[in-house]
Amino acid sequence: MIDSWQILRVGACRHPEAMTLKGGHWCPVSFPALVGLIRHRTFGPILFDTGYDDRFFAATEPLPERLYRLATPVQFDSADSLPVQLARLGLTPDDIAGVFVSHFHGDHVAGLSNFPKARIVCAGEGLKRIRAGSRFGRVRKGLLSALLPGDIDGRAAFFEAMPRVRLNNDMGPFTHGADVLGDGSLIAVELPGHCPGHWGLLIRPEGGKPVFFIGDAAWSIAAVADNRPPPAITTALLGETATYRRTLSALNTVSQTGAVELIPSHCEVTAAKWL
Ligand SMILES: [Zn+2]
Repeated sequence: MIDSWQILRVGACRHPEAMTLKGGHWCPVSFPALVGLIRHRTFGPILFDTGYDDRFFAATEPLPERLYRLATPVQFDSADSLPVQLARLGLTPDDIAGVFVSHFHGDHVAGLSNFPKARIVCAGEGLKRIRAGSRFGRVRKGLLSALLPGDIDGRAAFFEAMPRVRLNNDMGPFTHGADVLGDGSLIAVELPGHCPGHWGLLIRPEGGKPVFFIGDAAWSIAAVADNRPPPAITTALLGETATYRRTLSALNTVSQTGAVELIPSHCEVTAAKWL
């Protein structure tokens, strides 16, 4: 049972709009890092991703990891860290019962170590990739293994191993998801293409519209509405362009009925609507 949900803005990064939208301009634009806070009646508060954190700067201090910081300049103020924002809402880090990881890019998991008691729900494939290959190879893919909590193996549960459930018609053409808690309240839905192991989270709050946190499957709500992908050079760098575009088209279909609220992780319009 989901009592409520909200989003929080935990830092931002800047890069040219044309990297994220075909035909966009080349001036740097600010992209917020949005985090979901979902209150489950019995399980407790759950986060959708963590946004930026001071740990991001520590992890990107040495080379080659510093290249990540240079490629996407980050705006982050410790006074607005996720633990500080949660404290304003009356929550301590230990109160967080779970963290849903959409994928393991640095801007989504930088604060993961702030929540030592949380169960971590993620794609096994994503966790595998952040540990594989060379340091340079990982940085090129936006992966910073220093951000992983040391005890993650003992706390992680994988979407791939969770019970598969059929989705309601309002989510078509998506047909199936993974039942995260086993009570149908949190459904992980694979959104392939952005990077290996990229999943969104569907919630159906009590008496409200369903909400689908779509992570980086789209850079903005306008990109979903117009079915307008980033240029192939961006999607090919991190994931698979054809797969990304198929996922974006499916999200475009979901968006057309207006029955499900879509929340992209880096959309300024979404931030303005809900913050
Ligand atoms: Zn991201």
